[in-house]
Amino acid sequence: MTARTGVGGEQSTSGELRRAGGIFVATDACKGCGACLATCPERALRPAPGGWLLRGEAPLVTLADRCTGCGECMEICPADAFVERAA
Ligand code: SF4
Ligand code: SF4
Repeated sequence: MTARTGVGGEQSTSGELRRAGGIFVATDACKGCGACLATCPERALRPAPGGWLLRGEAPLVTLADRCTGCGECMEICPADAFVERAA
């Protein structure tokens, strides 16, 4: 069986997906298209308070307890706005 893992991800002996790396967070390169919000399988992304109007602020919040580090947000983002950070 092939396990889907994210960047730095690994499969434990119990089969549970574990994150060996970090979480993915959006930088202010975000254009506000919303594609990542619809794509994240864990519903780990939320618009930040103040939305995309506050330049210099993180446009989205990543819920660290939900993000598995799968990288799907990074793949879908047309602005290449995601970076990996320590969880
Ligand atoms: S890395 Fe995966 S789980 Fe984490 S925010 Fe991106 S799409 Fe969601
Ligand atoms: S996919 Fe990229 S540009 Fe679109 S809302 Fe998400 S971070 Fe912003």
